[in-house]
Amino acid sequence: MPKPGTSLSLLADFHLQQSVEVRGKFDGIGGLQILQLPAGENVPEAIAKYQASGLVEYAEPDFYRHLDATPNDPRYTDGTLWALNNTGQNGGVADADIDAPEGWDVLNSASNIVVAVPDTGIRRTHEDLATNVWVNPGGSGYGWNALTGTNTPADDEGHGSLVSGALGAAGNNGKGITGVAWRIQIMACKCFNASQVGADSDIITCIEFARTNGAKIISTSFDSPGFSLSFSNAIYAARNAGIIFVASTGNNAVNIDASPRYPACYDIDNVIAVAATTRSDTLWSSSNYGATNVDLAAPGHQITSTFFLSDSSYIGPLSGTSFSAPYVAGACALMLVKYPAETHQQIIARILNATDPLPALAGKCVTGGRLNLRKALSPPIQLTSLSTDGNLPFRLRVNAGPNRLCIIEASTNLTNWSSVFTNTTSSSGWFDYTNGVPVNTSNQFFRAVSTL
Ligand code: CA
Ligand code: CA
Repeated sequence: MPKPGTSLSLLADFHLQQSVEVRGKFDGIGGLQILQLPAGENVPEAIAKYQASGLVEYAEPDFYRHLDATPNDPRYTDGTLWALNNTGQNGGVADADIDAPEGWDVLNSASNIVVAVPDTGIRRTHEDLATNVWVNPGGSGYGWNALTGTNTPADDEGHGSLVSGALGAAGNNGKGITGVAWRIQIMACKCFNASQVGADSDIITCIEFARTNGAKIISTSFDSPGFSLSFSNAIYAARNAGIIFVASTGNNAVNIDASPRYPACYDIDNVIAVAATTRSDTLWSSSNYGATNVDLAAPGHQITSTFFLSDSSYIGPLSGTSFSAPYVAGACALMLVKYPAETHQQIIARILNATDPLPALAGKCVTGGRLNLRKALSPPIQLTSLSTDGNLPFRLRVNAGPNRLCIIEASTNLTNWSSVFTNTTSSSGWFDYTNGVPVNTSNQFFRAVSTL
């Protein structure tokens, strides 16, 4: 923006010296100019030159904006899916949700991630599931049916299709609902019969099928009080293959630290146990909980999802921690796309570090928080002062999520910034910077930035 009263020919000369071309001009906005920098020119440096020239009121980058990732699925756009985006509809509390649209701005597809769902099977031809169902290599079937010993895990009860929808119903296809991941590979594994009963031997068969057929995540929505060493060993074998095991905590309104439920209470580092929250960010009244054995909560109350009765059947609102687990599993799938080199422990740590702490969850789970997809996929960068007395040296702490390259920049005028320190955050998500040099007597401002 030319400074009022500046000679435009002087400005034109300055453009020429910098090899800058004028691409356009807005006469109605004070003669604001669109400039094209020469190839290879550094934008912040060019801005600094213009600001130092005295010829401009201001200079700034031509920022790219992005359209918000809002899927067109009717049950999403009409507000039914409060768990994904809650604006206070139907008596809920605004933002009592997992911040899905903000997360989807970063990533909404996990099309190469296989998530096994040991359950009652899946309606393979459902209009909102069909494109996201994992198919056996070679085309023979679409998962495993431990009850029949075949590759056709058809859903004869409905539960498996319900939880599959929360995990990965096709997003932005103009139909029904959307899962946390718009694209994903749901590996259906049938180990529960039409009466919702499943034997450990069949569950273990499904876990083994998942482990030996490329699943990265196993999402389970069942529980019982019986400890099984065999079941535990199957989860441990999956753990050794780097597989994340998500477990619902159950719907008995009990503290599972005192009355254990399995698989949620298996003490293995790939198990994430999930309680259920409501559209008001309270713990759902029937959700199990436990300060030690439950890791976090996710929406599980008044959920609408895909149903098994027909290819266009949906049902809801229904409630259960059964939904909370696949919401977390879907988030883990997107995290595996974002951070492909990370271990299951690192991905789980990111999910747990990114929860929204809620008063209703304090003392009810390890994190005291509810899943937040946006914070998991794009951790906010926070700069805080650790010094309180105003004397040198003073210390600053950068919090920005684990293993992230960040730069601390300083400025005396909030316009020209220069980097003073670069570091990568620890696995706990932070690093400190000590500034002991009295640069000058004027105020100095600091900020932390990252390009990652
Ligand atoms: Ca939100
Ligand atoms: Ca859909």
